[in-house]
Amino acid sequence: MATESLPPRYKALRRRSFERHLDLYLTAIYLLDGDSQLGGANLATYKKFESTAELRAAYLRAEQAPNLREPFAHSRTVQDLDKAIRQWRVTNPVLEAELRTIHDQHHCLSLTDFQQLISTQAGELACEYCELKESEFRRLIALGIVRTKRLRTRGRSFEFDCRDPQHGYEAGNVALCCYWCNNAKTDEFDVEEFKPIALALAAAWRQRLAKHTST
Ligand SMILES: [Zn+2]
Repeated sequence: MATESLPPRYKALRRRSFERHLDLYLTAIYLLDGDSQLGGANLATYKKFESTAELRAAYLRAEQAPNLREPFAHSRTVQDLDKAIRQWRVTNPVLEAELRTIHDQHHCLSLTDFQQLISTQAGELACEYCELKESEFRRLIALGIVRTKRLRTRGRSFEFDCRDPQHGYEAGNVALCCYWCNNAKTDEFDVEEFKPIALALAAAWRQRLAKHTST
């Protein structure tokens, strides 16, 4: 299917997935080669690239570093890694486009899987974590009883979260969830740890809805 005719939400998810995957790959090259020019990044190594638990842990460490001056590898900091990746992207737009094509074909949820995720055939959509229904979510926003201003710009539909943040937007790892769960879960909690927190969040939302309806 031509890129132009893809649903915008799928395109956005695939873009996000590529950003993450490219970041992970370039981080791997940086770690392995210790070359700040990332000269080892090319089609052949991207095609063969498979992330390891060790690499994903290093990647998350860099992502979550409280301070960009944190040491990362090869006596350099997280900031040096960021700079190397940024510079590589500025100097290699053609190669990046080629890597994107490979990513889209092999490393992201397919359009069919995506459509299944947002299919309402089995009934109304619900947040996978807190079980809030999409209609409840929309009602909360429409009634104006939500204080999150960003929701007005971020849209009124559910979002996509990687169940296990160590894996990307791959088939089987993408959860449909509400804005609040996506924000609260972050990369800190695993699905099992987050479930009771999510259910408590939904209870608070329903209470707010009930209070508003009864007044
Ligand atoms: Zn939720």
